[in-house]
Amino acid sequence: MIWNPFARREDTRPAVDTAQWVRVEAGLPFLARLAAGDRARLRAMALKFIAQKEWHGAHGLQLTPDIQLSIALQACLPVLKLGLDSYKGWVGVIVYPGDFVIPRRQMSEDGVVHEFDDEVAGETWEGGPVLLSWFDRPEDADGMNVVIHEFAHKLDMLNGPPDGLPPLHEGMRRQAWIDAFEPAYADFCARVDDGEDTYIDPYAAEHPAEFFAVTSEVFFEAPDLLHHEYPAVYAQLRQFYRQNPLR
Ligand code: ZN
Repeated sequence: MIWNPFARREDTRPAVDTAQWVRVEAGLPFLARLAAGDRARLRAMALKFIAQKEWHGAHGLQLTPDIQLSIALQACLPVLKLGLDSYKGWVGVIVYPGDFVIPRRQMSEDGVVHEFDDEVAGETWEGGPVLLSWFDRPEDADGMNVVIHEFAHKLDMLNGPPDGLPPLHEGMRRQAWIDAFEPAYADFCARVDDGEDTYIDPYAAEHPAEFFAVTSEVFFEAPDLLHHEYPAVYAQLRQFYRQNPLR
């Protein structure tokens, strides 16, 4: 079922009642850091987001209003202070049950084409849809926040292919961003190479764009940890998202 909370309604009950909000938000404990006013704003934004996008359940997944609400709340959290316009220019949200496989073709340096199946939890392209895994039990997501991750990529893509440097706001300096992220990324890659069991998902060492997406997840889900490990990155993300979850 694809649900549009703003579709013409036969009765006058609210599209989402308090019990439903409470049920969905119970699965998103990091929302508790928001001030009451911001929480109400996030709910309103989530309903708008659901109505603006085209939703699809893939591989037989039945998209329920609870799933859509959960995804929408998480998608809107990073843009709570930036506005929904940050997500304009594309419409599709495609949701898979658990991890899914993307067939890839890659040419190696010697010109040989390799085809393989890549098991992923999310994917997004410039101007294209967002593909997400839905896990009924959050613990199956392996500590990842797939939604915040993919939508951070969307923000990164607002100024071209994802490179870990999204368009910065007035008053932010590109050099300050680089001075914060570059050494943190180098340090993190070295720790992963050394075999350290990092709390931050080692997938962040794949590419600067992944480092930005993964640190964005940690910024919202475990801000104290990011602030402790990479305070300069935390400070830049705080300016970028215009939020301070640590407060
Ligand atoms: Zn990614």
